[in-house]
Amino acid sequence: MTTELKGKVGLVTGGTSGIGRDAAILFAKAGAKVVVAGRREVEGKETVELIRGAGGEGLFVKADVSRATDVEAMVGKTVEKFGRLDVAFNNAGVEGSWIPITEQSEAEWDRTIDINLKGVWLCLKHEIRQMLKQGGGGAIVNMASVAGWIGSAGAATYCASKHGVIGLTKAAALETAKNGIRINAVCPAVIETPMGERIFGAPEMKKYAIGLHPIGRFGKPMEVAEAVVWMCSEKASFMTGQSLVLDGGFLAGPNSPG
Ligand code: NAD
Repeated sequence: MTTELKGKVGLVTGGTSGIGRDAAILFAKAGAKVVVAGRREVEGKETVELIRGAGGEGLFVKADVSRATDVEAMVGKTVEKFGRLDVAFNNAGVEGSWIPITEQSEAEWDRTIDINLKGVWLCLKHEIRQMLKQGGGGAIVNMASVAGWIGSAGAATYCASKHGVIGLTKAAALETAKNGIRINAVCPAVIETPMGERIFGAPEMKKYAIGLHPIGRFGKPMEVAEAVVWMCSEKASFMTGQSLVLDGGFLAGPNSPG
């Protein structure tokens, strides 16, 4: 157990698997009470069990981040159970379908943008409202990606959503800086999660994708969680409006697969 988030109340969306699950557990290990939000009840309750197993306190709240009523209720239930909201990780996201723009359906564009971009906006709206109601103070981390920095042929919708998250993060940080609310984004390259497996799991694809990471491997969910806890903690007290890249060297320059 550490103490970076001691006495804080935290919220993690998409806490039912992957990066969100590890972040929820690490929030708890750092001393926070944690609301795990997501659409899948069984997996969400499993995350809460893992939090309890680690000596923490958690609550699962069923919520689809693309629905305004769900997001408002998610923040409401957090306050009802734990009295306030101090830190949040707006992590829920989908990869959508990775196909050329000319093949992409309007429905898939809408779904991906609704979850990855509108979902983060809805979370910010209700989280910031609550933090302001408490008199200000707090920290929020939004999930972007290296796809928020560069394009990727065949992943235009996903790239657009993640570029959007970075812009949204900057604007939100400017709106809340005077109220002591810090808002940042995290931008991982490929991380070993169910999503990472869905996109890059096939052997040839995996070999190619690992070659894009000069460090020679994909990242681990806990490596992202560690950075998120740090950004939510007082140790990052001068950081706001920024996007932290965690990419094993992916964006540092042209790649030279070893
Ligand atoms: P994942 O698929 O394991 O986790 C995504 C989680 O979000 C799941 O629990 C899923 O159920 C939840 N979710 C999806 N839509 C939702 C909705 N409408 N409402 C509530 N919850 C919803 O994958 P992951 O890799 O852990 O992804 C987490 C985030 O990290 C995503 O935003 C993703 O875009 C981002 N990301 C992932 C990678 C990677 O390589 N894995 C890299 C960069 C960024």
